Amino acid sequence: MKKLAAGNWKMNGVAASLSEVAALLQAHPAPACEMLLCPPATLVAQMVAMAAGTALRVGGQDCHAKASGAHTGDVSASMLRDAGAAYVIVGHSERRTDHAETDAAVAAKALAAQAAGLVPVVCIGETEAERDAGATLDVIGTQLHASVPDGSTAATLVVAYEPVWAIGTGRTPSLEQIAEVHAFLRARLTARLGAEAAGVRILYGGSVKPSNATEIFAIPHVDGALVGGASLKAADFGAIVAAL
Ligand code: 13P
Repeated sequence: MKKLAAGNWKMNGVAASLSEVAALLQAHPAPACEMLLCPPATLVAQMVAMAAGTALRVGGQDCHAKASGAHTGDVSASMLRDAGAAYVIVGHSERRTDHAETDAAVAAKALAAQAAGLVPVVCIGETEAERDAGATLDVIGTQLHASVPDGSTAATLVVAYEPVWAIGTGRTPSLEQIAEVHAFLRARLTARLGAEAAGVRILYGGSVKPSNATEIFAIPHVDGALVGGASLKAADFGAIVAAL
């Protein structure tokens, strides 16, 4: 599998912001890695139209576990697929916090995504208090086990390790800490999913920027990045894409 440079625009971006996408596509028409942007749902269809015939893939930032029904304000995986999305982020720490999403809810969303033909990017990560308490591997091991659907394969699953305390803070774990977690996740995925897990891409996310991308991408079992703030500007995201 190619490495994956994924951008999460979070609740940022209006139609005018798509000029950044045009600039990105112009500067990086044939990147060595797979390139993914997850804009707010309002922009998915427009971004898909821009991405046609290019190397850019488009994803959602969340989906409901049901395909349709009386769930005001929610978007289903099949709706995102219908709009041309290929991926959907599930279980981002902001969803887990803002919307009290449990591991079981995240697993149901990931399963719905797979059923709709989307690849879920399942996010896990410890809080600062959990890291300080020495509980990091316990916490993410539990999250991984309970958030990832059985039967997932390299083609149907991406995992993103995002330490909560590194998101939007400019702080990152040491390279050794990232290496420890990613090796742990690979081992757990292999124990769970078998040989298939060798190809499941494990992204690092949390304050990735052009200045630290190269050293993070050199860590074993780091198969790409999930980028927040730095994905909003073509120059920054393009530099991260070029580092993969
Ligand atoms: P930042 O890159 O802004 O720290 O955000 C990371 C993130 O949450 C991506 O999903």
